[in-house]
Amino acid sequence: MSEVVDHLAELTGFRDRDVMDVTLVSALRDLLEPVSVAIYRLVGETGQERWLTRARLQLADAVATADPLSFDHNHLPAADSEPERLECMRGRVVMDRHEGAHWITLFPIATEREVVGVLEIASLAKLETAAQRTVGSILKIYHNFLGLLDYSERDTLTGLLNRKTFDESFLKAVGDLVLRDPAAQLVAERRHEVRDAGYWLGVIDIDHFKRVNDSFGHLIGDEVLLLLSRLMRSSFRFHDLLYRFGGEEFVVLMRCQDEASALLAFERLRHNTRQYVFPQAGRITISIGFTRVRGGDTPASAFERADRAVYHAKGAGRDQVQSHAQLLANGLIEEHAQASAMELF
Ligand code: GH3
Ligand code: MG
Ligand code: MG
Repeated sequence: MSEVVDHLAELTGFRDRDVMDVTLVSALRDLLEPVSVAIYRLVGETGQERWLTRARLQLADAVATADPLSFDHNHLPAADSEPERLECMRGRVVMDRHEGAHWITLFPIATEREVVGVLEIASLAKLETAAQRTVGSILKIYHNFLGLLDYSERDTLTGLLNRKTFDESFLKAVGDLVLRDPAAQLVAERRHEVRDAGYWLGVIDIDHFKRVNDSFGHLIGDEVLLLLSRLMRSSFRFHDLLYRFGGEEFVVLMRCQDEASALLAFERLRHNTRQYVFPQAGRITISIGFTRVRGGDTPASAFERADRAVYHAKGAGRDQVQSHAQLLANGLIEEHAQASAMELF
């Protein structure tokens, strides 16, 4: 019993979702001593989803493994390669089956909004009802804690990260790149991870959103914001950070191999948005400005460059993606002396 309490204390001691997933599998491994325990999330565009391993531990492992942040999603197993996991998610039910020498038990993992993945436990003996109940209770605490985290870090309408979390998550993500050592880089290359990856920051602003509100009312306007946030989720990768910054302004921080792949990702969102027929408002378009995050950038200085590129996109006719670097190269904007100097005052 005290072991369970210890694990719960540990589980709720973190504010980092990556660490929480690792802590959850470690706790279940220690409690049940199964052959393996893993958390899988279904990620990717609707219709092309794949299984991302968030954390996996086998009995002999010292530390949990997970698919790395920058893993190319195309190398992940396709959703339908694991039909039982899909069934567990759809039915929101615990499922077990005998497979070879093992019993496989699947538990759905849900947030307040949706079922997002499964917990998979492989054991030599069938997981007894009492053990299943313990796992169920621990998952409930995990859900509730995630719900609390979401409440403080996410925008209530769209479920995207809120502006308050931007500075901290920006520095955490970008710091990781700066600290990366050459040996880790080599391993990353062998695992098909991207090379010389950098971070790109995009600012997304809906075109003529005032007209949507004026023509259809604020509620329909809010519905557009919600649906756009869903398009964003399906257009970017699981590890990309998506924020609602305020009214109808969104921010994306993502890791990409180069400027061309960043442009491709933003163009995909722009295209998906202009193709989408919003139930009441019909069609809308968005303008996007983006920049590479530079060494020495503050969250504000990177944001400011992307925002200037959005401003340029608006002036040049809207419904387009503009790169700050490209605008600079074409002499259409000038490098600001140093925006961060302003922040000193
Ligand atoms: P532009 O193409 O230049 O971006 O035009 P715009 O009308 O989108 O830009 P502007 O910034 O002038 O207007 C943004 C509007 O967004 C103003 C406000 O009515 C609306 N808005 C801001 N926050 C919310 C919100 O939370 N919900 C809804 N429904 N509307 C919002
Ligand atoms: Mg705006
Ligand atoms: Mg706008």
